[in-house]
Amino acid sequence: MAIATINPATGETVKTFTELTEAEVRDRIGIAHDRWQTYRRTTFAERAALLHATADLLEKEADDVARMMTTEMGKTLASARAEALKSAKGMRYYADHAEEFLADEPLPDPSVVGASRALGRYQPLGVVLAVMPWNFPLWQVMRFAAPALMAGNVGLLKHASNVPQCALYLEDVFRRGGFEEGCFQTLLVSSRQVEPILRDARVAAATLTGSEPAGRSVAAICGDEVKHTVLELGGSDPFVVMPSADLDRAAETAVTARTQNNGQSCIAAKRFIVHTDVYDEFARKFVERMRALTVGDPFDDNTKVGPLATEQGRADVEELVDEAVSAGATVLCGGQRPDGRGWFYPPTVITDITREMRIFTEEVFGPVASLYRVTDLDEALEIANATSFGLGSNAWTEDAEEIERFIDDLDAGQVFINGMTVSYPELPFGGVKRSGYGRELSSHGIREFCNLKTVWVG
Ligand code: NAP
Repeated sequence: MAIATINPATGETVKTFTELTEAEVRDRIGIAHDRWQTYRRTTFAERAALLHATADLLEKEADDVARMMTTEMGKTLASARAEALKSAKGMRYYADHAEEFLADEPLPDPSVVGASRALGRYQPLGVVLAVMPWNFPLWQVMRFAAPALMAGNVGLLKHASNVPQCALYLEDVFRRGGFEEGCFQTLLVSSRQVEPILRDARVAAATLTGSEPAGRSVAAICGDEVKHTVLELGGSDPFVVMPSADLDRAAETAVTARTQNNGQSCIAAKRFIVHTDVYDEFARKFVERMRALTVGDPFDDNTKVGPLATEQGRADVEELVDEAVSAGATVLCGGQRPDGRGWFYPPTVITDITREMRIFTEEVFGPVASLYRVTDLDEALEIANATSFGLGSNAWTEDAEEIERFIDDLDAGQVFINGMTVSYPELPFGGVKRSGYGRELSSHGIREFCNLKTVWVG
């Protein structure tokens, strides 16, 4: 994939970029590694001041950077602005809490191990490579960069090829925030150039957010090199609605949960599993609301759903829906791409899905909701867990026992009851099964790229 800004609302190539050569990449790794020798010795207070200064800039420039995001990947301008502000907030969270999260963990009674002093100490690993996706071009990077920098690591970013301006902005804003050259660098490289970076002895670890094949490739190389990885991969989150649920709130939230970011979120609810007692009513409320969404120019304030980010992305969504329909599935709304330019796809609800259809097992990365009817809680859980993914999950019920069953038995990294899955700096974020491993955000996210060193003093 060429490194370029291509406006998904028009299909027009706005700007192309030249890839770094392998020699240039090696130089950049050298700069990062040299910088780490001094940066690792800075104090938490020094790092926090730099991160707060970066957050100040991001807040001030939120409108401009939002336009950049919307132009490059098509999210609505309002959601792009909200993402910029959320990213600044995430930076401040780690600036304010890193020291507490990485404080020494002394053994209260060191004599039990025959020591006068014994503790665990968190130390940075060094140069960390982040391979990142286009769907939240700032927020995904912040989730890596803020904790990694606060822990005393330095970062290299290989961003998705369709968001080069966002990628360069990030390097620039960290520099202007006061981080010295080499603390955070953007490498404009294709995915082919990732392997030599991972195999470079000066690179200590990697984190990847993206698809399963990309994650498998990075993890295989890092496995071979015995380097730590965090993988945040795809999801096909269930959204279960039980008879006691507040159906209006559930339907309203279902629409947002499915169509946020034009349907391209890893934690979007994708499979709606509804108890037969409320199925018809929920389906009516849900379809009405999905149909009413305004699809169009992401710069327009009235638009709720913009284009998909890439032409291939839309073709993939279309193929999954068309194949299911040919095999007997029923479309309740949407399901046909509109004429005209841009990679638009309408909010779609599809039902009568069988297990043989690809749409049953694969992640649909667009505004397409699959609707399933179930007769009881056990069947709801069975369908919810009948996926290779395990990222987020949602259940709607007022019944206390059912709530506990969902918390215990949904096979996912996250469960949200009577609400939609959202990433918060304060809560751990990650998946199980083929959604990946490791955690981002909260105290757990910052410890992923630390050496927890055992200290024993006799
Ligand atoms: P993608 O194609 O896997 O791309 C993600 C990143 O990986 C890009 O920088 C891409 O570079 C790079 N890449 C692709 N193949 C690679 C390879 N073989 N080796 C090294 N790097 C490689 O994913 P996407 O289509 O951009 O993003 C959508 C996917 O990300 C969805 O599955 C979504 O669920 C997932 N996602 C997960 C989370 C989470 O937190 N779990 C969050 C957001 C998105 P190029 O652009 O140059 O190909």
